[in-house]
Amino acid sequence: DAKERGKNQLRFYHDERGSERYERFSLVNDLRRALEHDELKVYFQPQIDTRSGSVMGAEALLRWQHKELGMISPAKFIPLAEEQGLIIPIGEWVLREACKQGKILHDQGFYVRMGVNVAGQQIMHESLLSSVQRVISETGIDPKLVDLEVTESFLLRQPEITIPKLHKFRQMGMSLSMDDFGTGYSSLSYLKKLPLNTLKIDQSFVCDIGNDPEGEAIVKAIIVLAKSLGLGVLAEGVETTEQLAYLRAHGCHLIQGYYFSRPLPVEAFVDFVANQAVDVSAD
Ligand code: C2E
Ligand code: MG
Ligand code: MG
Ligand code: MG
Repeated sequence: DAKERGKNQLRFYHDERGSERYERFSLVNDLRRALEHDELKVYFQPQIDTRSGSVMGAEALLRWQHKELGMISPAKFIPLAEEQGLIIPIGEWVLREACKQGKILHDQGFYVRMGVNVAGQQIMHESLLSSVQRVISETGIDPKLVDLEVTESFLLRQPEITIPKLHKFRQMGMSLSMDDFGTGYSSLSYLKKLPLNTLKIDQSFVCDIGNDPEGEAIVKAIIVLAKSLGLGVLAEGVETTEQLAYLRAHGCHLIQGYYFSRPLPVEAFVDFVANQAVDVSAD
C-alpha cells in the first residue's frame, strides 16, 4: 500500500551506496504487485504448419507493461521471478490465460495448440502437477491442446524428479516440447529418456542459415535427429524467406517467427487465427 511504498522510497533516498541494490528490490516489489494490478499480459505468437498454411499452435509469451519503466522484457524479469519464487503464481496465471484462450478458440471451431513455457523452478516445485490439473479442469480445455515447453538445462539437474512429472503430463494428454534445443550442455543420451513430442530449434541456429555453414549443419542435424527419434521439429525465430525455404527444403515444416507474425495481443491473435490460410510460398 501507499504507506509501505512511502517507507521504501524514504529508504531509497537515504541509502546511497545501496541504490542499485534497491532498484532491484523495488522491481521485485513491483513484480509482486504486477499480477494484481493487471500489468502482466500474455501475448500469443502463431506457429504455422507450412504444409497447410494454417495456424497449428501458438506460444504464450509473457509481457510486463510497467507503469513507470514501460515494457520490460521477460528475459529480464523471469529470472527475477524465478529467484523470488514468484514464477509459481505467475506461471500458473500464464497457463490459465493460455488455456482459457485455447478453449475459446476451440469452441469457435479453431484447433490451436497452446505452447506454455515452464520454468525450471516450476518443474521442480511440488505444486506443478496439481496446479496444471486444476487449470485444465477449471478452463475445460482439451489437454491435447496444451503443449508444455521445457528446457534441457534444468530437466537433468534432478531427473528422478522431473522425468516422472513429464510422463504424468503425457498421460494427462498434454504434449511436451524441448525449447531452445541445442543450446544446453547435456549429452544426447538423455533425449531417448524424455517423453518429448517436439524439438524446438533455437533461433540462434536459425539465424545462421545463409550466414554460417556450421550453424546450418546444426540445423540440418537437429531436423534429422528429431525425425530419427520420431519427434516433431519446429523452428523458432524465423525471419526471412531464405530461412523459411531452407527449413522446408530440409523437412522442417513447423515455423514460428517474425516472418509470419510477432507475438500478438490476444485480440490481434484471434483475428490472425480467424484469417487462417497464411501465404507460405517462400519465393
Ligand atoms: P522462448 O521461450 O525461447 O521464446 C521465444 C522468444 O523469441 C520470444 O522472446 C519471442 O518473442 C522471440 N521471437 C519469436 N520469433 C522471433 C523472431 O523471428 N526474431 C526474433 N529476434 N525473436 C523472435 P520473448 O517473448 O522476449 O521471451 C524471451 C524468453 O522469456 C522466452 O524464450 C522464454 O524463455 C521466457 N518467457 C517468456 N514468457 C514466459 C513465461 O510465461 N514463462 C516462462 N517461464 N518463461 C517465459
Ligand atoms: Mg518457449
Ligand atoms: Mg525458445
Ligand atoms: Mg529462446
